[in-house]
Amino acid sequence: MLITHGTVVTLGAQNQIISDGAVLIQGDKIAAIGDTNHLITQFPNEEILDARGKLVMPGNICAHTHFYGAFARGMALPPGPPPKNFPEILQKLWWRIDRALTLEDSQYSALVCLVDAIRHGTTTLIDHHASPNAIDGSLDAIADAVNETGLRVCLCYEVTDRNGVEGANAGIRENVRFLKKVAGSRGKVVGSKEQVAGNLPHATQDLIRATFGLHASFTVSDATLEKCLMELDGLDAGFHVHVAEDISDEDDAEQNFGMRVGERLNARGILGAKTIAAHCVHVDVAEIDLFKRTSTKVSHQPRSNMNNAVGVANVLGMLRHGVTVGLGNDGFSNNMFSEMKTAFLVHKSHQRDPRVMGADTVLQMAYANNGKICANFWDAPLGELSVGAYADIILLDYAPYTEMHAGNFPWHVIFGVDGSNVTHTICGGKLLMKNRELVNLDEEAIAARAMELSRGVWKRVQELGD
Ligand SMILES: [Zn+2]
Repeated sequence: MLITHGTVVTLGAQNQIISDGAVLIQGDKIAAIGDTNHLITQFPNEEILDARGKLVMPGNICAHTHFYGAFARGMALPPGPPPKNFPEILQKLWWRIDRALTLEDSQYSALVCLVDAIRHGTTTLIDHHASPNAIDGSLDAIADAVNETGLRVCLCYEVTDRNGVEGANAGIRENVRFLKKVAGSRGKVVGSKEQVAGNLPHATQDLIRATFGLHASFTVSDATLEKCLMELDGLDAGFHVHVAEDISDEDDAEQNFGMRVGERLNARGILGAKTIAAHCVHVDVAEIDLFKRTSTKVSHQPRSNMNNAVGVANVLGMLRHGVTVGLGNDGFSNNMFSEMKTAFLVHKSHQRDPRVMGADTVLQMAYANNGKICANFWDAPLGELSVGAYADIILLDYAPYTEMHAGNFPWHVIFGVDGSNVTHTICGGKLLMKNRELVNLDEEAIAARAMELSRGVWKRVQELGD
């Protein structure tokens, strides 16, 4: 397929804006980028996608999300005083809803998020799943949703001790099983461990990846961490874990282990280049230095942090120190342009300094740094349009009324572009949305089934109580 006559925004090392530009897709990768007339002459037999009047740019990436929370939208909490802090938000909301989920609920929670992601131009998502009463096979249920939608997704199950030893063990088993399944599907040998039966559906073998999920320091014992590390041996993976999202996580680590959260996770072998530490709102300079030294990746979720009133992460300090900080949504809408705008605003407001967190820094997190996080899971570049990169591309209706060039493009994104401008979404070379119509998905049927299932979840949340 040849995308023609668009305003091609490459981002990445090239960081060019090509007016009347074209992008050639071959298989799941980008094969050429350049002037439209030149590429049409070179590749006269390609199917044409006319992008006249549109921006052509890399699909957005979400470095940390929770599909399982989708059915919380609009849900009333059981009677009682509203949660007044982060531990109460977990107990009264998230640890009620995750216990109410069946495998089909997990699948449809993922489906509605993935549909939302296609609509708003997010093509890669790194998920963190919990469904304590339906753990076995839960990552397969989500993988089915990924298969149906055609997006690029990395999955894990959150190991925690909050549901007892058996709950923790089941979480570990699900991570290990799914990691082996993904590796096996890619023809990779993973250590000396026996292989699991079954492969991913063929269409998703290049799209689905796995990592090892951990909830957070304050819900996992040393024994559980040790077991996770032992099970990870030979699987060529890192961890995806919440770190110091709230001050209570740091308090817990200091009181129970005499260490900061980052120090404890480092001492237990959890940090590393393949590990994603989500949030890191309350880490100190020593922990930031540990992330730098271990090449641990950090993800920033400003909308969630504001909503939970947990504080503002020292993202600028982490970036200055050379830590790779990307951007996630923590289960908020899958419109990553909204997350970028929030990141742009919150640090200025918090520091009462309009000079901090320029739009260029926000886009560096959303594209280049998220691309670096993705490089742990996928082989070709993401977050940029370049020859050899994955053909994860979005087209947007955007007619700038002021000059737009590579240097000021980030400010056009923050002040002008939104996920609602996305008209076409392409992932792995496949067109998933064309002129705002989903290509292979029955959106109404998905929403109708989700509505039925969510009613059941809401009912069980009321019944489960604490
Ligand atoms: Zn999270």
